[in-house]
Amino acid sequence: MKPATKFIHAGSHPDPSTGAIMTPIYQTSTYVQEAPGVNKGFEYARSQNPTRQALEEALAIIEEGKFGLAFGSGVAATDAVMKLLKPGDEVIAASDMYGGTYRLFSKIYEKFGILFHYVDMGDLKNIEQVVNKNTKLIWAETPTNPLMNIADIKAIASIAKKHSILLCVDNTFASPALQNPLILGADIVMHSATKYLGGHSDVIQGALIINDKALRDELYFIQKSCGAVPGPMDCFLVLRGIKTLGIRMERHSQNGATIAHFLKSHPLVKKVYWPGFEDHPGHLIAKAQMKDFGGMISFELKTDSMEAARRLLSGTKIFALAESLGGVESLINHPASMTHASIPREERIKNGLNDTLIRLSVGIEDIDDLIADLDQAINKAVIE
Ligand SMILES: *Cc1c(COP(=O)(O)O)cnc(C)c1O
Repeated sequence: MKPATKFIHAGSHPDPSTGAIMTPIYQTSTYVQEAPGVNKGFEYARSQNPTRQALEEALAIIEEGKFGLAFGSGVAATDAVMKLLKPGDEVIAASDMYGGTYRLFSKIYEKFGILFHYVDMGDLKNIEQVVNKNTKLIWAETPTNPLMNIADIKAIASIAKKHSILLCVDNTFASPALQNPLILGADIVMHSATKYLGGHSDVIQGALIINDKALRDELYFIQKSCGAVPGPMDCFLVLRGIKTLGIRMERHSQNGATIAHFLKSHPLVKKVYWPGFEDHPGHLIAKAQMKDFGGMISFELKTDSMEAARRLLSGTKIFALAESLGGVESLINHPASMTHASIPREERIKNGLNDTLIRLSVGIEDIDDLIADLDQAINKAVIE
Protein backbone atom coordinates (compact mmCIF):
# COMPACT_ATOMS: atom_id res chain seq x y z
CA MET A 1 0.00 0.00 0.00
CA LYS A 2 1.24 3.50 -0.86
CA PRO A 3 1.67 5.99 2.02
CA ALA A 4 -1.32 8.23 1.15
CA THR A 5 -3.64 5.21 1.38
CA LYS A 6 -1.87 3.87 4.45
CA PHE A 7 -2.36 7.06 6.47
CA ILE A 8 -6.11 6.85 5.90
CA HIS A 9 -6.61 3.13 6.53
CA ALA A 10 -3.91 2.19 9.08
CA GLY A 11 -5.41 0.66 12.22
CA SER A 12 -9.03 1.07 11.05
CA HIS A 13 -11.34 -1.89 11.30
CA PRO A 14 -15.12 -1.55 11.41
CA ASP A 15 -16.18 -1.82 15.06
CA PRO A 16 -17.13 -5.47 15.66
CA SER A 17 -20.25 -4.67 17.70
CA THR A 18 -21.88 -2.12 15.36
CA GLY A 19 -19.87 -1.82 12.17
CA ALA A 20 -19.00 1.80 13.01
CA ILE A 21 -16.37 2.84 10.45
CA MET A 22 -14.51 4.97 13.01
CA THR A 23 -12.95 3.28 16.04
CA PRO A 24 -15.16 4.30 18.97
CA ILE A 25 -13.78 6.11 22.01
CA TYR A 26 -13.81 3.27 24.52
CA GLN A 27 -14.23 5.44 27.60
CA THR A 28 -13.94 2.64 30.13
CA SER A 29 -11.57 1.73 32.93
CA THR A 30 -12.32 -1.99 33.09
CA TYR A 31 -13.93 -4.90 31.22
CA VAL A 32 -16.43 -7.47 32.47
CA GLN A 33 -15.01 -10.99 32.52
CA GLU A 34 -17.11 -14.10 31.92
CA ALA A 35 -15.27 -16.01 34.63
CA PRO A 36 -12.01 -15.24 36.46
CA GLY A 37 -9.35 -14.97 33.76
CA VAL A 38 -11.85 -15.56 30.93
CA ASN A 39 -12.02 -12.30 28.96
CA LYS A 40 -11.89 -10.84 25.45
CA GLY A 41 -8.23 -9.81 25.74
CA PHE A 42 -9.07 -6.70 27.75
CA GLU A 43 -8.76 -6.68 31.54
CA TYR A 44 -7.97 -3.18 32.76
CA ALA A 45 -7.59 -0.04 30.69
CA ARG A 46 -4.07 0.92 31.82
CA SER A 47 -2.95 -2.34 30.18
CA GLN A 48 -5.33 -2.50 27.19
CA ASN A 49 -7.86 -0.20 25.56
CA PRO A 50 -9.35 -0.84 22.09
CA THR A 51 -9.05 2.81 20.96
CA ARG A 52 -5.40 2.87 22.03
CA GLN A 53 -4.86 -0.51 20.39
CA ALA A 54 -6.18 0.78 17.06
CA LEU A 55 -3.89 3.81 17.34
CA GLU A 56 -0.85 1.70 18.25
CA GLU A 57 -1.48 -0.51 15.22
CA ALA A 58 -1.75 2.61 13.04
CA LEU A 59 1.49 4.05 14.48
CA ALA A 60 3.38 0.87 13.62
CA ILE A 61 2.04 0.78 10.06
CA ILE A 62 2.73 4.41 9.18
CA GLU A 63 6.25 4.32 10.67
CA GLU A 64 7.08 1.08 8.79
CA GLY A 65 7.55 -0.78 12.06
CA LYS A 66 6.03 -3.86 13.71
CA PHE A 67 4.81 -2.48 17.04
CA GLY A 68 3.51 0.84 18.31
CA LEU A 69 3.05 2.07 21.88
CA ALA A 70 1.21 5.26 22.78
CA PHE A 71 1.99 7.45 25.82
CA GLY A 72 0.43 10.37 27.64
CA SER A 73 2.97 12.79 26.11
CA GLY A 74 6.14 12.85 24.03
CA VAL A 75 8.29 13.18 27.13
CA ALA A 76 6.45 10.21 28.71
CA ALA A 77 7.48 8.16 25.66
CA THR A 78 11.09 9.34 26.07
CA ASP A 79 10.87 8.57 29.79
CA ALA A 80 9.83 4.99 28.99
CA VAL A 81 12.92 4.53 26.81
CA MET A 82 15.13 5.87 29.61
CA LYS A 83 13.66 3.27 31.97
CA LEU A 84 15.32 0.56 29.89
CA LEU A 85 18.59 1.79 31.47
CA LYS A 86 20.19 1.30 34.87
CA PRO A 87 22.66 3.30 36.99
CA GLY A 88 26.11 3.42 35.39
CA ASP A 89 24.77 3.26 31.84
CA GLU A 90 25.80 6.00 29.43
CA VAL A 91 23.81 7.81 26.77
CA ILE A 92 25.02 9.78 23.77
CA ALA A 93 22.55 12.53 22.91
CA ALA A 94 22.37 15.36 20.40
CA SER A 95 23.70 18.68 21.70
CA ASP A 96 20.89 20.78 20.26
CA MET A 97 17.84 18.61 20.79
CA TYR A 98 14.40 19.49 22.14
CA GLY A 99 14.74 21.38 25.45
CA GLY A 100 12.33 19.10 27.32
CA THR A 101 14.39 16.02 26.41
CA TYR A 102 17.51 17.75 27.72
CA ARG A 103 15.65 18.67 30.92
CA LEU A 104 14.45 15.09 31.44
CA PHE A 105 17.98 13.74 30.92
CA SER A 106 19.88 16.34 32.94
CA LYS A 107 17.44 17.09 35.77
CA ILE A 108 15.82 13.70 36.31
CA TYR A 109 17.99 10.88 34.96
CA GLU A 110 21.43 12.22 35.87
CA LYS A 111 20.51 11.89 39.53
CA PHE A 112 19.67 8.21 38.98
CA GLY A 113 23.28 7.64 37.94
CA ILE A 114 22.97 7.77 34.16
CA LEU A 115 25.78 9.60 32.38
CA PHE A 116 25.07 11.75 29.30
CA HIS A 117 27.40 12.88 26.53
CA TYR A 118 25.96 15.70 24.43
CA VAL A 119 27.58 15.84 21.01
CA ASP A 120 27.06 17.49 17.64
CA MET A 121 25.82 14.49 15.65
CA GLY A 122 26.48 16.23 12.36
CA ASP A 123 30.00 14.82 12.70
CA LEU A 124 30.09 11.06 13.35
CA LYS A 125 33.56 11.26 14.91
CA ASN A 126 31.97 13.05 17.87
CA ILE A 127 29.88 9.95 18.53
CA GLU A 128 32.69 7.42 18.03
CA GLN A 129 34.87 9.41 20.43
CA VAL A 130 32.61 8.95 23.46
CA VAL A 131 31.43 5.36 22.86
CA ASN A 132 32.59 2.98 25.56
CA LYS A 133 31.50 -0.30 27.10
CA ASN A 134 28.87 1.45 29.26
CA THR A 135 27.17 3.17 26.32
CA LYS A 136 23.68 1.71 26.05
CA LEU A 137 21.70 4.29 24.10
CA ILE A 138 22.18 6.85 21.35
CA TRP A 139 19.43 9.49 21.33
CA ALA A 140 19.26 11.27 18.00
CA GLU A 141 16.93 13.94 16.71
CA THR A 142 16.87 15.01 13.06
CA PRO A 143 16.15 17.63 11.92
CA THR A 144 17.02 19.15 15.28
CA ASN A 145 14.95 21.62 17.19
CA PRO A 146 15.39 24.55 16.58
CA LEU A 147 18.58 24.76 14.48
CA MET A 148 17.48 22.28 11.83
CA ASN A 149 20.74 20.33 11.93
CA ILE A 150 20.73 16.98 10.20
CA ALA A 151 22.09 13.70 11.55
CA ASP A 152 22.81 10.76 9.25
CA ILE A 153 20.51 8.08 10.68
CA LYS A 154 21.93 5.23 8.61
CA ALA A 155 25.52 6.04 9.58
CA ILE A 156 24.66 6.44 13.28
CA ALA A 157 22.73 3.15 13.15
CA SER A 158 25.82 1.37 11.87
CA ILE A 159 27.92 2.76 14.75
CA ALA A 160 25.17 1.68 17.17
CA LYS A 161 25.03 -1.84 15.67
CA LYS A 162 28.80 -2.24 15.77
CA HIS A 163 28.84 -1.55 19.52
CA SER A 164 25.45 -3.16 20.37
CA ILE A 165 23.97 0.16 21.43
CA LEU A 166 20.27 0.97 21.03
CA LEU A 167 19.50 3.84 18.68
CA CYS A 168 16.37 5.88 19.34
CA VAL A 169 15.42 8.64 16.89
CA ASP A 170 13.06 11.47 17.81
CA ASN A 171 11.20 11.74 14.50
CA THR A 172 8.79 14.47 15.61
CA PHE A 173 9.97 17.18 13.20
CA ALA A 174 9.90 15.06 10.05
CA SER A 175 6.88 12.88 10.88
CA PRO A 176 6.47 9.40 9.37
CA ALA A 177 5.32 11.01 6.13
CA LEU A 178 8.80 12.40 5.45
CA GLN A 179 11.23 10.07 7.24
CA ASN A 180 11.17 6.49 8.56
CA PRO A 181 14.16 5.89 10.88
CA LEU A 182 13.41 2.17 11.43
CA ILE A 183 14.05 1.51 7.74
CA LEU A 184 17.37 3.36 8.12
CA GLY A 185 18.42 1.07 10.99
CA ALA A 186 17.11 2.73 14.17
CA ASP A 187 15.80 0.45 16.95
CA ILE A 188 13.17 2.81 18.34
CA VAL A 189 11.35 5.78 16.85
CA MET A 190 9.92 8.33 19.25
CA HIS A 191 7.25 10.90 18.42
CA SER A 192 5.62 13.77 20.17
CA ALA A 193 2.23 12.92 18.67
CA THR A 194 1.20 16.33 19.99
CA LYS A 195 2.78 17.78 16.85
CA TYR A 196 2.32 16.54 13.26
CA LEU A 197 0.62 13.22 14.09
CA GLY A 198 -2.23 14.92 15.96
CA GLY A 199 -1.83 17.88 13.64
CA HIS A 200 -4.51 20.15 15.11
CA SER A 201 -2.98 21.50 18.35
CA ASP A 202 -5.68 19.85 20.43
CA VAL A 203 -3.94 16.94 22.17
CA ILE A 204 -0.79 16.02 24.13
CA GLN A 205 0.51 12.54 23.31
CA GLY A 206 3.64 10.51 22.64
CA ALA A 207 4.54 7.37 20.72
CA LEU A 208 7.22 4.72 20.34
CA ILE A 209 7.54 2.43 17.34
CA ILE A 210 9.71 -0.68 17.45
CA ASN A 211 10.54 -3.72 15.29
CA ASP A 212 12.04 -6.09 17.84
CA LYS A 213 9.44 -8.11 19.79
CA ALA A 214 11.56 -8.47 22.96
CA LEU A 215 12.24 -4.73 23.04
CA ARG A 216 8.55 -4.05 22.45
CA ASP A 217 7.63 -6.35 25.34
CA GLU A 218 10.08 -4.57 27.63
CA LEU A 219 8.67 -1.17 26.66
CA TYR A 220 5.09 -2.44 27.00
CA PHE A 221 5.95 -3.67 30.50
CA ILE A 222 7.24 -0.16 31.32
CA GLN A 223 4.14 1.47 29.77
CA LYS A 224 1.85 -0.72 31.87
CA SER A 225 3.94 -0.63 35.06
CA CYS A 226 4.62 3.11 35.08
CA GLY A 227 1.20 4.01 33.69
CA ALA A 228 1.84 7.02 31.45
CA VAL A 229 -0.89 5.94 29.02
CA PRO A 230 -3.02 8.32 26.92
CA GLY A 231 -6.78 8.46 27.40
CA PRO A 232 -9.11 7.00 24.75
CA MET A 233 -10.38 10.42 23.60
CA ASP A 234 -6.81 11.53 22.92
CA CYS A 235 -6.11 8.28 21.04
CA PHE A 236 -9.17 8.95 18.89
CA LEU A 237 -7.93 12.46 18.08
CA VAL A 238 -4.51 11.23 17.00
CA LEU A 239 -6.06 8.40 14.94
CA ARG A 240 -8.14 11.04 13.17
CA GLY A 241 -5.12 13.32 12.73
CA ILE A 242 -3.09 10.55 11.09
CA LYS A 243 -5.67 10.21 8.30
CA THR A 244 -4.65 13.59 6.86
CA LEU A 245 -0.94 13.38 7.73
CA GLY A 246 0.16 12.69 4.15
CA ILE A 247 -1.69 15.59 2.58
CA ARG A 248 -0.87 17.94 5.46
CA MET A 249 2.85 17.23 5.25
CA GLU A 250 2.78 17.87 1.50
CA ARG A 251 1.34 21.33 2.12
CA HIS A 252 3.55 22.03 5.18
CA SER A 253 6.59 21.21 3.02
CA GLN A 254 5.39 23.32 0.07
CA ASN A 255 4.63 26.34 2.25
CA GLY A 256 7.86 25.78 4.20
CA ALA A 257 9.97 25.83 1.04
CA THR A 258 8.32 29.00 -0.25
CA ILE A 259 8.78 30.79 3.08
CA ALA A 260 12.40 29.63 3.46
CA HIS A 261 13.23 31.14 0.05
CA PHE A 262 11.25 34.29 0.82
CA LEU A 263 13.18 34.80 4.07
CA LYS A 264 16.53 34.05 2.46
CA SER A 265 16.00 36.80 -0.09
CA HIS A 266 14.60 39.30 2.44
CA PRO A 267 16.93 42.28 2.90
CA LEU A 268 16.34 42.41 6.68
CA VAL A 269 17.01 38.69 7.34
CA LYS A 270 20.54 37.54 8.19
CA LYS A 271 20.33 33.78 8.24
CA VAL A 272 17.75 31.08 7.52
CA TYR A 273 18.03 27.55 8.91
CA TRP A 274 16.27 25.10 6.59
CA PRO A 275 17.72 21.81 5.30
CA GLY A 276 16.27 22.31 1.83
CA PHE A 277 18.95 24.88 0.93
CA GLU A 278 21.82 23.41 -1.07
CA ASP A 279 24.32 25.24 1.13
CA HIS A 280 22.86 23.74 4.34
CA PRO A 281 25.61 21.44 5.73
CA GLY A 282 23.19 18.51 6.06
CA HIS A 283 21.37 19.06 2.76
CA LEU A 284 22.56 15.95 0.94
CA ILE A 285 21.83 13.67 3.89
CA ALA A 286 18.43 15.29 4.40
CA LYS A 287 17.68 14.82 0.73
CA ALA A 288 18.63 11.15 0.94
CA GLN A 289 16.80 10.24 4.14
CA MET A 290 13.74 12.54 3.93
CA LYS A 291 11.02 12.69 1.30
CA ASP A 292 10.72 16.47 1.71
CA PHE A 293 11.93 19.15 4.13
CA GLY A 294 8.79 19.85 6.17
CA GLY A 295 7.42 23.04 7.63
CA MET A 296 9.96 23.95 10.33
CA ILE A 297 12.24 26.93 9.71
CA SER A 298 14.38 29.09 12.00
CA PHE A 299 15.90 32.46 11.16
CA GLU A 300 17.69 35.51 12.51
CA LEU A 301 17.13 39.13 11.62
CA LYS A 302 20.07 41.26 10.44
CA THR A 303 19.94 43.20 13.68
CA ASP A 304 21.10 41.71 17.01
CA SER A 305 18.49 43.79 18.79
CA MET A 306 16.44 41.72 21.17
CA GLU A 307 13.78 44.44 20.97
CA ALA A 308 13.44 44.00 17.21
CA ALA A 309 13.05 40.23 17.67
CA ARG A 310 10.41 40.87 20.31
CA ARG A 311 8.53 43.28 18.04
CA LEU A 312 8.54 40.70 15.27
CA LEU A 313 7.27 37.96 17.61
CA SER A 314 4.30 40.07 18.66
CA GLY A 315 3.81 41.74 15.27
CA THR A 316 2.50 38.81 13.21
CA LYS A 317 -1.25 38.50 12.82
CA ILE A 318 -1.63 35.01 11.33
CA PHE A 319 1.46 33.37 12.86
CA ALA A 320 0.42 32.95 16.51
CA LEU A 321 3.06 33.42 19.20
CA ALA A 322 3.08 30.03 20.91
CA GLU A 323 5.19 27.05 21.88
CA SER A 324 4.59 23.78 20.03
CA LEU A 325 4.52 23.03 16.31
CA GLY A 326 3.04 20.75 13.70
CA GLY A 327 -0.54 22.01 13.73
CA VAL A 328 -2.46 23.19 10.68
CA GLU A 329 -2.09 26.79 11.88
CA SER A 330 1.19 28.70 11.65
CA LEU A 331 3.07 29.46 14.86
CA ILE A 332 6.00 31.72 15.69
CA ASN A 333 8.24 31.00 18.67
CA HIS A 334 11.23 32.42 20.49
CA PRO A 335 13.29 29.35 21.53
CA ALA A 336 15.61 31.24 23.94
CA SER A 337 12.74 32.37 26.17
CA MET A 338 10.11 29.74 25.35
CA THR A 339 10.75 26.15 24.17
CA HIS A 340 14.46 26.09 25.06
CA ALA A 341 14.49 28.23 28.22
CA SER A 342 15.28 25.09 30.26
CA ILE A 343 18.75 24.90 28.63
CA PRO A 344 21.28 27.18 30.41
CA ARG A 345 22.10 30.29 28.30
CA GLU A 346 25.82 29.45 28.04
CA GLU A 347 25.00 25.96 26.79
CA ARG A 348 22.51 27.39 24.29
CA ILE A 349 24.90 29.98 22.84
CA LYS A 350 27.67 27.38 22.64
CA ASN A 351 25.40 25.24 20.47
CA GLY A 352 24.57 28.17 18.18
CA LEU A 353 21.14 28.99 19.57
CA ASN A 354 21.24 32.80 19.75
CA ASP A 355 18.95 34.99 21.83
CA THR A 356 17.44 36.47 18.68
CA LEU A 357 16.70 33.20 16.87
CA ILE A 358 13.09 32.88 15.74
CA ARG A 359 11.43 29.57 14.90
CA LEU A 360 8.45 29.11 12.61
CA SER A 361 6.08 26.20 12.39
CA VAL A 362 4.63 26.87 8.97
CA GLY A 363 1.00 25.82 8.76
CA ILE A 364 -1.17 24.93 5.80
CA GLU A 365 -2.86 28.30 5.30
CA ASP A 366 -2.74 30.16 1.98
CA ILE A 367 0.91 30.92 1.23
CA ASP A 368 0.26 34.50 0.06
CA ASP A 369 -1.33 35.37 3.40
CA LEU A 370 1.58 33.83 5.33
CA ILE A 371 4.21 35.71 3.35
CA ALA A 372 2.37 39.01 3.60
CA ASP A 373 2.07 38.52 7.36
CA LEU A 374 5.78 37.81 7.85
CA ASP A 375 6.81 40.62 5.53
CA GLN A 376 4.81 43.29 7.34
CA ALA A 377 5.96 42.05 10.76
CA ILE A 378 9.66 41.93 9.78
CA ASN A 379 9.57 45.38 8.18
CA LYS A 380 7.81 46.88 11.17
CA ALA A 381 10.05 45.16 13.71
CA VAL A 382 13.32 46.34 12.19
CA ILE A 383 12.36 49.78 10.96
CA GLU A 384 10.68 50.94 14.18
C1 LIG B 1 7.31 18.60 21.68
C2 LIG B 1 8.47 17.75 21.47
C3 LIG B 1 8.78 16.72 22.38
C4 LIG B 1 8.00 16.49 23.66
O1 LIG B 1 6.71 16.08 23.40
P1 LIG B 1 5.44 16.45 24.35
O2 LIG B 1 4.31 15.84 23.61
O3 LIG B 1 5.37 17.94 24.44
O4 LIG B 1 5.69 15.82 25.68
C5 LIG B 1 9.88 15.93 22.10
N1 LIG B 1 10.64 16.13 20.99
C6 LIG B 1 10.37 17.10 20.10
C7 LIG B 1 11.24 17.26 18.91
C8 LIG B 1 9.28 17.94 20.31
O5 LIG B 1 9.04 18.91 19.44
